[in-house]
Amino acid sequence: MNKLTELTTHEALAGLQAKSFSSRELTSAYLDQINRLEPEIHAFITLTPEKALQMADKADQRLAINAEDCPPLTGLPIAVKDVLCLEGLPCTCGSRILENFVPPYSATVVQKLLDAGVIPLGKTNTDEFAMGSSTENSAYGPTHNPWNTERVPGGSSGGSAAAVAAGMVPAALGTDTGGSVRQPCAFCGTTGIKPTYGRTSRYGLVAYGSSLDTVGMIARNVADVALLFQCMAGYDPLDATSSQEPVHKYRLPQAPDLQGLKLGIPEEYFIEGIQPEVESRVRAAVVRLEELGVVAIPINLPHTQYALPVYYIIAPAEASANLARYDGVRFGPRLGDGENIWEMFTQTRGQKFGAEVKRRIMLGTYALSAGYYDAYYNKAQKVRTLIKRDFEQAFEQVDLIAAPIAPTTAFKFGQHTDDPLAMYLEDVFTLPANLAGIPGLAFPVGYDKKGLPIGMQLMGPPFMEDLLFRVGHAFQLTTQWHEHWPFSNKNNKA
Ligand code: GLN
Repeated sequence: MNKLTELTTHEALAGLQAKSFSSRELTSAYLDQINRLEPEIHAFITLTPEKALQMADKADQRLAINAEDCPPLTGLPIAVKDVLCLEGLPCTCGSRILENFVPPYSATVVQKLLDAGVIPLGKTNTDEFAMGSSTENSAYGPTHNPWNTERVPGGSSGGSAAAVAAGMVPAALGTDTGGSVRQPCAFCGTTGIKPTYGRTSRYGLVAYGSSLDTVGMIARNVADVALLFQCMAGYDPLDATSSQEPVHKYRLPQAPDLQGLKLGIPEEYFIEGIQPEVESRVRAAVVRLEELGVVAIPINLPHTQYALPVYYIIAPAEASANLARYDGVRFGPRLGDGENIWEMFTQTRGQKFGAEVKRRIMLGTYALSAGYYDAYYNKAQKVRTLIKRDFEQAFEQVDLIAAPIAPTTAFKFGQHTDDPLAMYLEDVFTLPANLAGIPGLAFPVGYDKKGLPIGMQLMGPPFMEDLLFRVGHAFQLTTQWHEHWPFSNKNNKA
């Protein structure tokens, strides 16, 4: 049998049910892996091994009494991105301003997973307030890519993707405001869902861009992502923007038959400057899907080029409003000698926010200021509508869309840190889905010459996560890219 840390979520749960091993054994195996690799990877900001083992013992007691009647994820270790509240544990958001913030409640998605039986092992690293594409913006130091520790794991959910890739957990929660689930999945070779806006509750997620933020799941394959996502999706009365649309029962095909599905290939996503291996692996994946029965159709999403400027106006505008609460009065430590309130605000925010967060607050405040509101923010909202319409029109023609996730594979530390624009360019293929509110599924489709993973995303109409899962699962039934792990013994990249 596989080493415990190499099991998929489905295999781990089956083993627990069959009593092939206990939740304590499974949890200990992951904690050992964390102990061994964390000094190199730094995927976590907070770890809770004792609590996890206590929960594992409780899970074992429940499983011993009646395994079949236990909640579906009983005894399964996971990790939680540190922008989601988990009662009683610090929620730092990768920021010094929240280093002492211990939420007295759990985010709805976290609570739902706890109710389904999961065991959190800790909180994973993230760019400060989820602003970034590499985790280099974390105030707690960057996470390293398990495939090559001189390279970034992507971001902002880099800690979660690296933890899954390194076999530290079988699955981890991430968030995606402009690509932060999909891009780290591409860089780390993991599978992840960025859901439709409103499909998962944002209650207890520390807000970045409220009209863009979504909570997703990262795991080792589509079947695992679908299983975990089933337990966290759905309406939440505590989040007014969560959708009342019923959640589909995600049923995955036994056989990879995709006859009759139309797959759009947007010309605008295969642009100059894209790493040739990324393009060729994505095109090869499309050919594989064609072999399974889909019909690939070239399409156009003509406003794609505006997604980047539109996002980098709207997201900072929303962020500047959302981050006003970290002022030393409502949230955050209080600095300054108490001369006057402005002094206190300036000291607190000046010392505790990092450079990227300050940059975004300034960009956002500027875009929202009286003289520029119409020229920037309002204009951006109008163009956002055009981007959304591009997708609506495309989905009249095709059932789903396949595209690369990032123009390159994982880059080196420091490569983009002096050039924010170059860093923002990394997001060019992921931002449109957030602006349009549509779901995206990321999964590995190959490796480059350096052995770094390459990912592809499938985008679908709103609330069609089940279709994305079905197609992604069919792909994985006939490919092995999702079965290779950097610290695995059976790692042949065939
Ligand atoms: N890289 C993008 C940004 O920095 C997206 C981040 C995210 O999805 N949280 O805003």
